Amino acid sequence: MVGPPLRNPLMPKKAAEAPARIFRSEEELAALPVSERIRYRIVSADRRYHANDNIAAFVREGELAELKSEVQAKLQEVLRALVIDTDGDHNTNETAKRVAKMYIDEVFGGRYRPMPAVTEFPNVERLNELMIVGPITVRSACSHHMCPIFGKVWIGILPNEHSNLIGLSKYARIADWIMSRPQIQEEAVTMLANELQDRVRPDGLAIVMEADHFCMHWRGVKDTDSAMVNSVMRGAFLKDANLRREFLSLLPRKQG
Ligand SMILES: [Zn+2]
Repeated sequence: MVGPPLRNPLMPKKAAEAPARIFRSEEELAALPVSERIRYRIVSADRRYHANDNIAAFVREGELAELKSEVQAKLQEVLRALVIDTDGDHNTNETAKRVAKMYIDEVFGGRYRPMPAVTEFPNVERLNELMIVGPITVRSACSHHMCPIFGKVWIGILPNEHSNLIGLSKYARIADWIMSRPQIQEEAVTMLANELQDRVRPDGLAIVMEADHFCMHWRGVKDTDSAMVNSVMRGAFLKDANLRREFLSLLPRKQG
């Protein structure tokens, strides 16, 4: 073999490897399936694209419609592999199309659409009392089985005079944007905490999420009662046990 092998840009880069890339012209890119085009841009920018990452910055105008068609065609293949007669069975005739649309526009939409616009206000009243937002109903899907996750989130904020305040409904919008992706509950609450920390910059931030994982009900152990609870405590909530207790005692969730 002559010279080092060219790295396939679609494969994850190894840490020690030189950033050799196969550069493609716009023309070559245009000939690729849209998912490959988007992936090429992400890999070129050296960005992560896990199931719960947002990739909106790499999707150009009009490409989501194209992506829906590509996903639809692949889902049609899945139905075929499941030996379902989608031509004869009127119920599954349009299923691939419906599911592709549901994934991209709705249940995984938080991967493909940019962060919702949120106006921040300076804390002119210098509010510094514990604020609790919730319960916010959240819907997600687990990354492992792509089964639904339904739950509630409570957010505790201890602002300081430099904090930016955001409208109450915006907490729900940001939560929805983060949850509308294939998620892992522990990572979802951390992502939500990071987003709020960056925007609000409070002295303390606490998040509790309690959710039902349908992969527990529908398959596996078929346990119908289990819910998963996760929390993130930052800043003052981490240091001050009284504040933490106050927050937890104000959550109207069933204890124990
Ligand atoms: Zn699962």
